[in-house]
Amino acid sequence: MSLGENNLVEGNKAYAASFTQGDLALPPSHHYTGLTCMDARIDPAAAFNIPLGAAHVIRNAGASARDAFRSLVISQQLLGTTEVLLVKHTGCGMLTFDNETARGLVKKNKGEAAAKEVEGLDFLAFPDLEEKVREDVEWLKSRAVEEGIRVTGWVYEVETGKVRRVV
Ligand SMILES: [Zn+2]
Repeated sequence: MSLGENNLVEGNKAYAASFTQGDLALPPSHHYTGLTCMDARIDPAAAFNIPLGAAHVIRNAGASARDAFRSLVISQQLLGTTEVLLVKHTGCGMLTFDNETARGLVKKNKGEAAAKEVEGLDFLAFPDLEEKVREDVEWLKSRAVEEGIRVTGWVYEVETGKVRRVV
C-alpha cells in the first residue's frame, strides 16, 4: 500500500468508528461555498471554521474562480448556496510560474504527446496575490448567473493561520 492509501484505510477506520453525523442534509446548512487552493497546508474545515454539512468547499490550484465556475453554478442552482468566500493564500505555488514554464515542464518530463495535450491549457497562474483576489471576485460578480450572490475575497496566511479580508 502507498502512504496515501495507508492514510486513507487506517485513518478512516478510526474516523468511522466514532462517526455520528450520517443524517446530515445534502444542501449545505449555512448556504455558502468556500473556494480555496488545493495547497496541502490549508485545512479549510479547521482554519475557516466550517462544521460538517455547513458549506461546500471547492479546491483547485490557486483558488481560481474560473476553474471553479462549474462547481459554483451547481452549488448555487442545485443546492441553494447564496454566498462565495474566495480564499487565496500567501506562498501560493501559482505565484511562481507561467503557462510557458508549465508547458515546458510537461514536454521535458512527459514528451511530445503529453505536451500536445496541454498546449491550449491555461494553468491560471498569477503574479500578484491580492490583485488576483480582487480580479477573481470581480470576474465572478460580472457573471449573470452570479447575480444576487454575495462574493467576498480573502487571503489566508500559511505562516500564521490567520485570514484577512481583501474585498
Ligand atoms: Zn495555492
